[in-house]
Amino acid sequence: MRIAALISIGFAVGACADPPALGEHVGAATVGDYETTSCSTAVVLELSRQIAGEVGCMAPGQLVVFPEGNGLVFTGGAVLPYASEVGRADLLAAVAAGGGMSLELTSAYRTVAQQYLLYRWYQLGRCGIPVAAAPGGSNHESGRAIDVGNWSAWVTILGDHGWAHDVPGDDVHFDHLASPDLRGTDVLAFQRLWNRNHPTATIDEDGVYGPMTAMALAMAPAEGFALGPDCATAALAVGVESIVAPRTVASGATFTVEITVRNTGTATWPADAALVTAEPLGRASAFVGPGWLAPDRIALAEAATAPDQVRQFTFTAVAPAVDAATEMTESFTLEVGAEHASSIAMVVTVTPVDGDADGGCCSTGSAGVRGGWLGPALLAALGLRRRRRSL
Ligand SMILES: [Zn+2]
Repeated sequence: MRIAALISIGFAVGACADPPALGEHVGAATVGDYETTSCSTAVVLELSRQIAGEVGCMAPGQLVVFPEGNGLVFTGGAVLPYASEVGRADLLAAVAAGGGMSLELTSAYRTVAQQYLLYRWYQLGRCGIPVAAAPGGSNHESGRAIDVGNWSAWVTILGDHGWAHDVPGDDVHFDHLASPDLRGTDVLAFQRLWNRNHPTATIDEDGVYGPMTAMALAMAPAEGFALGPDCATAALAVGVESIVAPRTVASGATFTVEITVRNTGTATWPADAALVTAEPLGRASAFVGPGWLAPDRIALAEAATAPDQVRQFTFTAVAPAVDAATEMTESFTLEVGAEHASSIAMVVTVTPVDGDADGGCCSTGSAGVRGGWLGPALLAALGLRRRRRSL
């Protein structure tokens, strides 16, 4: 059994109090054991790494690691250095603009296990925590918040780089508001890990922090489950190979979209697996085109797709009317029977037919597509979206 020697950790919460310094020795234990015996979220670091890994399985690329060094200093042993790609870029640019000054990072990404403990310590009046977000509700759980020990030296520079010093009374805390809000994915990741390890005592996989999830967290092993992250256990799972569509289209223009996906699950997709709109399901698309099965139902696979095989959906879409150039995101998912995979996002900028937005380009009316600006472009951004159940 591993013995962890714990030292003081600078952690923080929705409010990010300076923690007391503690030294203690602990054996393997449940998360709940630490509600009254620790003030350091390092006690659940191994479980948190499993949760972060499972988030990576569910939403590949949504969180990226950033390195220590070149002025960025991790304080304590509880820093999980993950952020969104844009958040990381802004953070590194800010540090580079600091003229050699160190940025002392005390907390970055935080999992529901860490937030659970911070919240319990806050509720119990322990560890000097003045206020804490409920588990599932902290921006730290989205990789869009950091806590900075020497915050006062960085308020202006971080603010110039997209990191807002925006929580009064929580001096060390900065939010990157342009990063996507992924709250709930860490909760769902924990639920999946729990169920993988407790097949006869499962909890709902809904990404919502509720009483069952709280109970499971209290009983979960702080040093991690026997079975860790597994990116391939889902029966229905979709990996996006490419989304080919025009980057810009004029209102009324007809254009072709090719979505190529790989079956990354363990079950074969039947021929009647369908590409449908998502977020929410059943939504009529703004891009309905000729040949669609219904406004929320684009096309069928038309042949079975075994695990690891790819399937291409090619369909015709029509750009909706807009008054000004508008970046539009359309979400799709694969439907197999009553089950749905994670969602796939396509981003297209639609320009008005009079079109002086976007450089006065191309007034085509309903004449359709002009090759010059319809050259295929890879647009995809994808991933498992919040609250999406992945089976
Ligand atoms: Zn914070």
